[in-house]
Amino acid sequence: MDKEDMIRLLERRGISKRVLEAMKKVPRHLFVPPDVRKFAYEDRPLPIGEGQTISAPHMVAMMCEYLDLQKGHKVLEIGGGCGYHAAVMAELVGKEGKVITVERIESLADRAKQNLKLTGYDDVVEVVVGDGTLGYPPEAPYDRISVACAAPSVPPPLKEQLKIKGKMVIPVGSHSQILYLVKKKGEDGFDMEKLCEVVFVPLIGKHGFHM
Ligand code: SAH
Repeated sequence: MDKEDMIRLLERRGISKRVLEAMKKVPRHLFVPPDVRKFAYEDRPLPIGEGQTISAPHMVAMMCEYLDLQKGHKVLEIGGGCGYHAAVMAELVGKEGKVITVERIESLADRAKQNLKLTGYDDVVEVVVGDGTLGYPPEAPYDRISVACAAPSVPPPLKEQLKIKGKMVIPVGSHSQILYLVKKKGEDGFDMEKLCEVVFVPLIGKHGFHM
């Protein structure tokens, strides 16, 4: 499978032209570790080291789709991993937007920084090392929040740091997980829509699972 095959497969799954264009531009093979590079464009999760995985391309595409990312949006991602998903979101929000991605494992955050620099996304994406269950207050509030690890429940700081009318995608659960679309209606008013069953690595932190 090469990138063209991946795009055709995503197109058949109903992914929009805008998200397909973004994914066409991002070289996924330059984000994943060399030993799994030959599988970079297969539609499946891949190991990225430290026991963590990068989501399958269709999951990245669907999360971008549900978030309805627009040019100029400021996005917070929790679980930066290798930086691939953040790069796809950077294509969608453009140079006038910003993506802040928080990663708790320093070695992965370092690799994500290198990958983003090499591929030219470091002007839009900022990588922060820390506990993403606390959000990232210095850049709050956010138009969109994308959580790439499964939480026991929606961390309160993420709800607070979302703009009114903002949207968040987040997997919730331990063994069986559901991907939710959270919409902020007012200061304390949230809509939670169940999207689908998913499998993500756990969100570990103060408002997540404990080690
Ligand atoms: N979006 C990533 C894949 C993320 S995998 C990519 O495109 O590569 C999920 C990541 O969440 C893992 O790297 C894991 O270390 C991280 N993680 C888990 N709990 C976290 C937390 N509390 N804060 C930040 N990152 C966290």
